[in-house]
Amino acid sequence: MRSLINILDFSPEELQQLIDVANDIIAHPGDYRERCRGKKLATLFFEPSTRTRLSFEAAMYELGGNVIGFSEAQSSSAAKGESVADTAKVISCYADIIAMRHPRDGAPLVAAMNASIPVINAGDGGHNHPTQTLADLLTIYREKGRFDRLTVGLCGDLKYGRTVHSLISALSRYPGVRFVLISPEELKLPSYVKKEVLAVHGIPYEQTEDLEAVMPALDILYMTRIQRERFPDPTEYERLKDSYILTPEKLKAAKEDLCILHPLPRVNEISVAVDKDPRACYFKQVLNGKYMRMALILRLLEGMEEAPAPEEEIVADLICDNPRCIVQTEQELPQAFRCTNRERKIFRCVYCESKRILKGE
Ligand code: ASP
Repeated sequence: MRSLINILDFSPEELQQLIDVANDIIAHPGDYRERCRGKKLATLFFEPSTRTRLSFEAAMYELGGNVIGFSEAQSSSAAKGESVADTAKVISCYADIIAMRHPRDGAPLVAAMNASIPVINAGDGGHNHPTQTLADLLTIYREKGRFDRLTVGLCGDLKYGRTVHSLISALSRYPGVRFVLISPEELKLPSYVKKEVLAVHGIPYEQTEDLEAVMPALDILYMTRIQRERFPDPTEYERLKDSYILTPEKLKAAKEDLCILHPLPRVNEISVAVDKDPRACYFKQVLNGKYMRMALILRLLEGMEEAPAPEEEIVADLICDNPRCIVQTEQELPQAFRCTNRERKIFRCVYCESKRILKGE
């Protein structure tokens, strides 16, 4: 049984199959109206969301299925202290597939380890958001017809923006991709993404604070919201919140076929006047997200072929110190680390991917 926890759980071929299914749904929606008749999706949203939750619900209804679930932790048994593992076991008795959003990094992985039905990560803390990446990929594919040979600018909160981390992981597997990382110093891309995704795949990238200077080179511009809720210090958020505002004026230097994306919600980082520009693709991206979620639900319920088991060594004698990791709150969840660099003895927490270096032998 397959789940989608990290975008890298799916090979480029499997992602292409999802894109093909989504394109077929767009072309022939009537053929899909009954495909999930009698099936139930459970939306377990421990963190507020409108777009993603409603997108999943709309996707399931358009496939003829039903939806059960909750939209805030307060209305779930988590408020009584239930573990994620127990919630996953209980919901497996009621539904056929789970979409889970959780404020803790790694929570959907714990759900997948305990559920007997497929689990979809609908966003875990500041970690990953693979179904947003599915929406991004379908939009790029429909606008550009390819994933290779693209210069992709990512602008805004590259530190806490989970959609950015997932998109970089996905696009790093295509040849000729180049990233331009545009952010204030304080919100730069985490070094683990640079070292273990970009460097490992030999992907060229530049870091800058100046959006206008790099604008002419971009094929894709992925704007993001400064993630207020993830800032430990609210004054820091106040200082950085207006770092980038995309306006028609700034777009004058951009390519005519630039594709402007944004995972939404927008605060003020794209001026409303940009919406009329034909290069603004963020509302198409919302629609594409629904089609990709339909394709994903279908493929997971059909029983996709198992992925090959990862070969990395797993050790338990390290302690994860990421305060946002699920291992800090989940009852009796064993520590688990995967070796990602044998020579330098680098290990990463399997839940949140925080780094530990094994000292001594
Ligand atoms: N909707 C996206 C997310 O859930 C982006 C955002 O919230 O800024 O991560």
